[in-house]
Amino acid sequence: MEYGSETLASLIRLFAKMPGIGFKTAQRLALHLLRCEDKEVEKLGQVILGLKQTVGFCKSCGGITELEECAICTNPARNREMVCVVEEPRDLIILENTGQYKGLYHVLHGVLSPVDGVGPEDLNLRHFEERVRANNIKEVIVATNPTVEGDATALYIARALEPLGCSVTRLARGLPMGATLEFADDVTLARAIERREEL
Ligand SMILES: [Zn+2]
Repeated sequence: MEYGSETLASLIRLFAKMPGIGFKTAQRLALHLLRCEDKEVEKLGQVILGLKQTVGFCKSCGGITELEECAICTNPARNREMVCVVEEPRDLIILENTGQYKGLYHVLHGVLSPVDGVGPEDLNLRHFEERVRANNIKEVIVATNPTVEGDATALYIARALEPLGCSVTRLARGLPMGATLEFADDVTLARAIERREEL
């Protein structure tokens, strides 16, 4: 494809690599930026540059924050006896958007997958047992996706927490097998939280 500019062409290729953005959309975005005012494009560039420098992960739960601890972990109004375990920060945001859950979270940053060589030590699991014990957590809700890996991870967590005697539950099967939280609607998710089952 001839754009008359290698810079423009490479911007289009970079956009096209992003999730949910096809080639045509990438082209539209890049051409749109070219038409924008310098100021606007500079602002966008600065925000993107700062993203990896200012945004990090909470030392307690692994969720997204610009501070040491996230806004959920430091919120005194949250139920501190409940922890919901999710695969990715994306899932935390999805569950928060349902408005149904008032406890804390724990973000694994992945899922157990022996086939891909992902073991417990590759996930944010190292200090999880300690977190549950030290904070006197009464219930751990495992909200990993209803996939083979998500189920294996849920079982692993249930076994690891067995000696602690806290309740370990799993989101109810309102979600079809193989589907991910990302594609469930708020009502289905809210119901899945409400009707969670003991593991
Ligand atoms: Zn946190």
